[in-house]
Amino acid sequence: MIVLLDYDGTLVPIVEDPRKAFISPQKKEFLKELSRKHTVAIVTGRDMRSFSEVFGDIPESLYVITSHGAKLYKGSELIKTFFPYKVPNLKPLREKVKTLPGVVLEEKEGCFALHFRNFDGNEETVRKVFEDFIKKHPPVKVIEGKKVLEGVYGEFDKGKGIEEFLKFLGWDKKQRVVYIGDDTTDLDAMREVKALGGETVFVGKNKPPEADKALGSVEEVYEFLSRL
Ligand SMILES: [Mg+2]
Repeated sequence: MIVLLDYDGTLVPIVEDPRKAFISPQKKEFLKELSRKHTVAIVTGRDMRSFSEVFGDIPESLYVITSHGAKLYKGSELIKTFFPYKVPNLKPLREKVKTLPGVVLEEKEGCFALHFRNFDGNEETVRKVFEDFIKKHPPVKVIEGKKVLEGVYGEFDKGKGIEEFLKFLGWDKKQRVVYIGDDTTDLDAMREVKALGGETVFVGKNKPPEADKALGSVEEVYEFLSRL
């Protein structure tokens, strides 16, 4: 079976500072075991640098699809770039963000993200900074997640990344596919997986129509996975 898993909010709880969303050694060991039994891919909005900072060494049997579907890794080795991209110079934005304590600019391959979970000021201030920047440097698309705004500079999303990944695997449409995610960026992935006849699981309250079922917490995700 093919198990596709979002990272933040799915395999680890959402934390205030995304740079500290570390996975525990036990959970990592569990995923390593799971990836020996099944084809397991973590499908994240993070790029490989940001992902490995919170995940640590990546087991060789585990796939990672980074930057919202742009690149495929196996372990820490780049296997394929599904979608190329070009990000503008972020220096002016970096300078601006320095004046907003609590706002974090995450610079990623193919996109950037403004996190404002720790910002005490008015959310609109962050939005304005974001809007001003993207007016000058229009991204292909804007993604809004939980207290995060992202500008994406390539034609990719998690759904397209998964489509490419299944092609790469030579998936025969018979093997069961499951996707688990918790955020708006996971909905592209869920639509794709559903269209292909797979199962979709949402983590959290307010299950979206794209999901077949919902789990209440990260712990419930691991319980679900342990039954596969
Ligand atoms: Mg997530």
